[in-house]
Amino acid sequence: MHTKTLAQLSAMLQSKQVSATELAQHFLDRIAASDLNAFLHVDTALTLEQAAAADARIAAGTATALTGIPIAHKDIFVTRNLRSTAGSHMLENYVSPFDATVVDKLAQAGMVTLGKLNCDEFAMGSSNENSYFGPVRNPWDKSAVPGGSSGGSAAAIAARLAPAVTGTDTGGSIRQPASFCGITGIKPTYGSVSRYGMIAFASSLDQGGPMAQTAEDCGLLLNAMVGFDDKDSTSLERQPEDFNRDLHQSLQGLRIGVPKEFFGAGLAPDVEQAVRAALDQYVKLGATLVDISLPKTELSIPVYYVIAPAEASSNLSRFDGVRYGHRAASYTDLDDMYRQSRTEGFGAEVKRRILVGAYVLSHGYYDAYYLQAQKIRRLIAQDFATAFEQCDVIMGPVAPTVAWDIGAQSDDPLANYLADIFTLSTSLAGLPGMSIPCGFGQGDKNARRPVGLQLIGNYFAEAKLLNIAHQYQQVTDWHQRSPE
Ligand code: GLN
Repeated sequence: MHTKTLAQLSAMLQSKQVSATELAQHFLDRIAASDLNAFLHVDTALTLEQAAAADARIAAGTATALTGIPIAHKDIFVTRNLRSTAGSHMLENYVSPFDATVVDKLAQAGMVTLGKLNCDEFAMGSSNENSYFGPVRNPWDKSAVPGGSSGGSAAAIAARLAPAVTGTDTGGSIRQPASFCGITGIKPTYGSVSRYGMIAFASSLDQGGPMAQTAEDCGLLLNAMVGFDDKDSTSLERQPEDFNRDLHQSLQGLRIGVPKEFFGAGLAPDVEQAVRAALDQYVKLGATLVDISLPKTELSIPVYYVIAPAEASSNLSRFDGVRYGHRAASYTDLDDMYRQSRTEGFGAEVKRRILVGAYVLSHGYYDAYYLQAQKIRRLIAQDFATAFEQCDVIMGPVAPTVAWDIGAQSDDPLANYLADIFTLSTSLAGLPGMSIPCGFGQGDKNARRPVGLQLIGNYFAEAKLLNIAHQYQQVTDWHQRSPE
């Protein structure tokens, strides 16, 4: 049952081959037996209550395509009935008085919540090792990281602990863990999915999205997640669309832009081979490859690591030990209470970002760093606009390497930042991006570590991306493989 796609589960539920309650129990049992540390909070009674409601809805004939299907949420989305920690000691016992819009929309569609998923603290990281609640293990190789920051989300899909999950992507956190765990994930155009109730990291970049086994499943979830929300000031007001409407279109004549900057030194040969093989597969499907250039790719790292910390330093100022979260047990005065609470509540990476962010926003450095970064951000978006005059989609690797060993880079923040090179520019430009499994690494160790193919589309080209991904998944079986 756990190997089925959402489309298959939906059909089984409608035809009453399985009940929502049986389905929920099946996944709860798998979660209980798992040793990946992917889940932070599970409430069996709550899940079964939601499943019973879904069964009643199916019986009454008012079900949607998603009713009765289990889902788990990255612990960055706030939930009324389960703790919402953002992977931080600061919010260890935090229970939100409301549900995030995404959580609410998926619940309205009848989805059944299995629990909350581990992630890097405040979504800062690329390996899930920055979680206060410990690292998540990659189901393909338990000595490897699952990627981050949505590491729990990706691991849960790969290990078939949930058929659907949510993630968030600020600079790659849906695409990179999807790549490392051999699953499918899409970060939609910035502003498509409401940020209301998504614990803020960098507001001009944060974007929620679905992760699942297949592109078709991601489209089904996106259909329920996207939509204008007047509680989010950057939410886009657009006509509703069916993101799966073009799944079956032929790729004949599709122009795939292959940026030379994504295939230079630094790209591991085994990743390059898997990605090139995927491009060949697309040529067989009727596409043509076009050499393009995204000249500012390298600058996306310094630009992102100025802008994201700047916004984070502002967003995280709300955690002061008064309004939310952890408060130190002993302190001398008000200033000391803030200092102690934040010293104890935040982990090292979060503190590093707050320091960098406060620095680049400070008087005297604002022009030199923050303003400069904003200008280059615009040029990065311009690179993409030029590229999309020559091609319909851009493809390349998601990350320069397969998943690394747990602990291998945990003392080296810069190594982690550099590994984001291929995902940051998409986020800075606000474009939709996707990762689909396209093979494995090579050699004793890497042969069990998945490789993802990145698809980058123009603004609002999600349906096109899903079409392109789906066609590939019709002729390959990487997405069907699971570690067991
Ligand atoms: N790895 C990047 C970072 O550490 C991206 C994280 C994300 O997308 N949330 O900031």
